[in-house]
Amino acid sequence: MASATKPRYVDVENPALAIDCPRCGLRTPRFLEYCRNCGFHLWPSSRVASAAFQAWRDHDSARAQTSRYAYEVPVEMAPPVIDYDERAHELGIHIFPSSNFPFVISVGAFVLALAVVHFSWMPLWGHIALGLAGAAIFLVGVIGWVIVEDTRYYPAETAEGGPAGHAHIEGSV
Ligand SMILES: [Zn+2]
Repeated sequence: MASATKPRYVDVENPALAIDCPRCGLRTPRFLEYCRNCGFHLWPSSRVASAAFQAWRDHDSARAQTSRYAYEVPVEMAPPVIDYDERAHELGIHIFPSSNFPFVISVGAFVLALAVVHFSWMPLWGHIALGLAGAAIFLVGVIGWVIVEDTRYYPAETAEGGPAGHAHIEGSV
């Protein structure tokens, strides 16, 4: 019985998923039992049509996502891989580099905030020590982010703008 459901012949080399109906001449999915337009009997049974479709689909891995009811094999729909940093550079858009210093800044702000919270067990010098420590962490974050990292990532920009601006100033003075 199993062999009866196998298609006697299916041209798996033919990539077409839709055919022109032999009776009405309109396009219809190739592996459906009936023509969608006129109901012409294309396959002996739905099981035979299904087996033929599976044989055709498994012949080529590019057909893996294909629907039996479709007219065309779907094209690859994965989103394209884009280097946004490179694209921004082409367009002249300044993108701030990703940095860990904002976390340092927020930790410093947290310690600073703790310094002004009243704890019954903490003496005055504890508040002062916390405040100094928080301010130090906060400043390290700000200096690292704004001064150290930005000048390290964008030395070319200052060099580029430097000579031109310098020449302009020299000419006007
Ligand atoms: Zn038809």
